[in-house]
Amino acid sequence: MPESTEHAHIVIVGAGFGGIGLAIKLREAGFDDLVVLERAADLGGTWQANTYPGCACDVPSQLYSYSFAPNPDWSRTYGRQPEILAYLRRVAAEHDVVRHIRFGAEVLDARWDDDRSVWRIEYSGGQLTADILISATGVFADAKYPALPGLESFAGKAFHSLHWDHAHDLTGEKVAVIGTGASAVQFVPEIQPRVGKLLLFQRSAPWIVPRLDRATSGLERFLLRRIPFTQKAIRGGWYAAIEGFGLISLVDKRFRHPYEALGRLQLRRQVRDARLRETLTPDYVIGCKRAIFSDAYLPALDQPNVDVITQGIAEVKPHSIVLRDGTEHAVDTIIFGTGFTAIPTAFERFTGRDGRSLADLYREHPQSYLGATVAGFPNFFCTLGPFGAAGNQSAIYMIESQIAYIVDAVRTLRHTATRRIELRRPVQDAFLTEMATRSSTSVWLTGGCQSYYTTPDGLNAGLYPNWSFEYRRRTRRFDAESYEMSS
Ligand SMILES: Cc1cc2nc3c(=O)[nH]c(=O)nc-3n(C[C@H](O)[C@H](O)[C@H](O)COP(=O)(O)OP(=O)(O)OC[C@H]3O[C@@H](n4cnc5c(N)ncnc54)[C@H](O)[C@@H]3O)c2cc1C
Repeated sequence: MPESTEHAHIVIVGAGFGGIGLAIKLREAGFDDLVVLERAADLGGTWQANTYPGCACDVPSQLYSYSFAPNPDWSRTYGRQPEILAYLRRVAAEHDVVRHIRFGAEVLDARWDDDRSVWRIEYSGGQLTADILISATGVFADAKYPALPGLESFAGKAFHSLHWDHAHDLTGEKVAVIGTGASAVQFVPEIQPRVGKLLLFQRSAPWIVPRLDRATSGLERFLLRRIPFTQKAIRGGWYAAIEGFGLISLVDKRFRHPYEALGRLQLRRQVRDARLRETLTPDYVIGCKRAIFSDAYLPALDQPNVDVITQGIAEVKPHSIVLRDGTEHAVDTIIFGTGFTAIPTAFERFTGRDGRSLADLYREHPQSYLGATVAGFPNFFCTLGPFGAAGNQSAIYMIESQIAYIVDAVRTLRHTATRRIELRRPVQDAFLTEMATRSSTSVWLTGGCQSYYTTPDGLNAGLYPNWSFEYRRRTRRFDAESYEMSS
């Protein structure tokens, strides 16, 4: 890298909820020398990338939004993707952070230079050095595809929910949907009325609980605007209701019964066919994987043009899918609702002091301190790092906790004239032991399911195994004593 390489005090990678929130709060704290590198052509992250029909948040919008930028105008309880994207664009513009973002700037490599105590960053479009590097690259970034024999021979259309092909008309087609995760639960009811036949390939039935989505009235929005306290109260109410889910994981599995009863009641009400009901009844403890809120998914599956298939796929042929028992189904289009890779590609591209990438560390076992810093990665912070994500709670709540911690850290570096900061390894080790102990009894590991909440070795993949308000308490202030700092 030439000596004349451009330098920024802070570089943030990613312009989703994490990166935008960080840029806003760092600027408020007086840090203006910051650059946000975003590989996409627009900000928004998840909400710019996912455009499939029915795409919406699963946490009510009053909670799934920044606490510092409440929005009285959500048109529904759960905002849809275009509305969430518009919200993020508006907040970024109002806080004047868009000018800090470089679009189409994919970070290809970021390496710690221990001699000069800077990060050396190569991105599509240039090179940079930075005193501080912050990763806000998200966890649901890259599409995951199942390894299906013969898939490359398929002659029809095939795409992932993350890369929805809006130009392709599904009307009257025979469509195979692979996977029954949160995205599939949202797009299946949208496409079911249009397609000729829908084959839903289900490996394990998700727990579906009532979503209670509705349009907000003009009067409601007027009141929320005029009496801001009502907005805070509603946000608090949703927070408590969702946090209550933690009772199953953190207190006693017996708390699952009311939630499972609700799921079963909805199934009985919405699916008339007893055999289909059995197929759609989950065989693990609710909360073991993310419970899904939907009022429309089960009724869509009860329609005559839908078959739910639990048999594994043996082979994909040019115009069909063959099951393990030899049954062959003609198919025009395959849609993958199979979620995201466990390790985002960005993790491969951040390399710490000893030459190992974040992905190398993660493959060994998920590791970080508070989901915000990592031993061996000086002057580095992240949002939603391992053990910094929540199960069912709003990701924005966790991200805001991380932002508070990171901004306080950067402020501390300035006040103490610190050039180099690195997490003490014993601090990380103690934290990871605590995470492992708490996780060992959690429903994620003991609930009888397989999900992205766990690694292939059966470890907690990175959820914080305690209450989110406890996490907030821990991240409220930067604990300088956990770090080695030098000027
Ligand atoms: C369909 C869907 C629905 C969801 N619904 C909910 C919900 O209801 N509640 C909830 O709590 N969470 C939900 N999530 C999780 C969601 O990802 C988080 O809530 C939140 O959006 C994460 O924000 P983020 O900024 O951390 O990451 P992201 O939104 O993923 O943003 C990361 C950004 O980093 C950029 N980036 C990545 N790698 C690079 C690179 N190498 N160089 C440059 N830029 C890079 C990406 O382009 C992206 O813009 C949902 C996720 C999906 C996919």
